[in-house]
Amino acid sequence: MKAIRIHEHGGPEVLSYEDVPVPEPGPGEALVKIDASGVNFIDIYFRTGLYPAKPPFTNGQEGAGTVAAVGQGVRDVRPGDRVALLQPHCSYAEYAIAGAKRLVKLPNGVTTKVAAASMLQGGTAHYLTRSTFELGESHTALVHACAGGTGLLIVQIAKKFGARVIGTCSTEEKAAKAREAGADEVILYTQQDFSSECRRLTDGEGVDVVYDSVGKSTWTGSLDSLKPRGMMVTFGNASGAVPPFAPLELTKRGSLFVTRPSMMAYIATDEEFSWRTSDILNWIESGDLNVTVGGEFPLSDAAEAQSRLAGRKTMGKLLLIP
Ligand code: NDP
Repeated sequence: MKAIRIHEHGGPEVLSYEDVPVPEPGPGEALVKIDASGVNFIDIYFRTGLYPAKPPFTNGQEGAGTVAAVGQGVRDVRPGDRVALLQPHCSYAEYAIAGAKRLVKLPNGVTTKVAAASMLQGGTAHYLTRSTFELGESHTALVHACAGGTGLLIVQIAKKFGARVIGTCSTEEKAAKAREAGADEVILYTQQDFSSECRRLTDGEGVDVVYDSVGKSTWTGSLDSLKPRGMMVTFGNASGAVPPFAPLELTKRGSLFVTRPSMMAYIATDEEFSWRTSDILNWIESGDLNVTVGGEFPLSDAAEAQSRLAGRKTMGKLLLIP
C-alpha cells in the first residue's frame, strides 16, 4: 500500500510517498481501509519535530473508511463497518491500524469524508467548549483563527450553547465564512488591534474566555482581552509557540486563569472518547454542526496540503484522498 512516511524531521520535502506492507491487526485492533485522512497542524509539528515523534513513522492522526479486518477479541466493530479513527501516526495511508475501542461507527447520514474532517478538530472544539471552559448563555468567547478548521467548529458549538462569539481572522473572505458559521462579531486582527476592539465590543468589560490556537503573536493581546478572573485557553501554536511568561502578568490583569490543554488528556478514557466523538457525529447528522471541507488533495500531494495550511491559505479542513 502507499503511505506518507517521515524518515527525518524537516520541511514538507521530508514527506515521502512510498510503498509499505499493509499492516496486520493485533489483538484488540482493527485494520481500516482509509477513504480520507484529515490534515492537521499537529501533523506539521510531528514532521518538524516541534512535538516529539521518533522517525520513521507514518504522518497523520485521523481518518475514516471501512473496517477491512479485525484482530483477536474484537467485538465492537466488524469488517464492512464504516468508521472514523483518531490515533497518532497512522492515517496518511491506504490502510491504518487502530485500537478497536478508539474507532467510532458512523451514523448513516455522515459520509466518511466529513467524518475524517471532524474527528480531531471536532473533538477539540467539544472538549474546549464543554469541559475546559463550559460555555453557556451568560458568556462571551473570543475565538482566534475563527475560519480555520478548529475555529469554525468552536464558533458553531459556542453558538449552539448560547454564548456570544467574537472571532478574529485575517481576511474579509474568512470573516464572511465565520459569520456564516454564527460568529456575532469578527475582527480582522491583521488590520485592527483585536484587544481594544474586544474591549469596545464588550463595553470595556472584556471576554470570559479566549480560545487561542494562534499562540505567540496573539498571546499578550489575548490576556488583555479578558475580564478579571477570565480564562485564557492557549491550545495551539499556528504563529509559533508561546514563550515563557511571568505569572504576575495574570495578577496584573485581575487574577486570570491560564490553561494549555491537549486533546489526549480530554479523551483519556474510552467513555470520554465515545462521548465527544458521538456528540460531534450526531450534531453533524442532525445539521447542528456544519463541517467545511476547504480542499481535497491526492495522498501523494500531502506536502502541498501541509504547505497551504501552514501558509494561512485555507478555510475549514483539508483532506488527503488515498
Ligand atoms: P487552522 O485551520 O486553524 O489553520 C491555522 C490558522 O491560524 C490559519 O488559517 C490562520 O488563520 C491562523 N494563523 C495566524 N497566524 C498564523 C501564522 N503565522 N501562520 C499560520 N497560520 C496562522 O489549523 P488547525 O485548526 O489545524 O490548528 C490550529 C492550531 O490549533 C494549531 O497550532 C494546532 O496544533 C492547534 N490544535 C491544538 C489542539 C489541542 O488539543 N491542543 C487540537 C487541534 C488543534 P487566519 O489567516 O485567519 O489568521
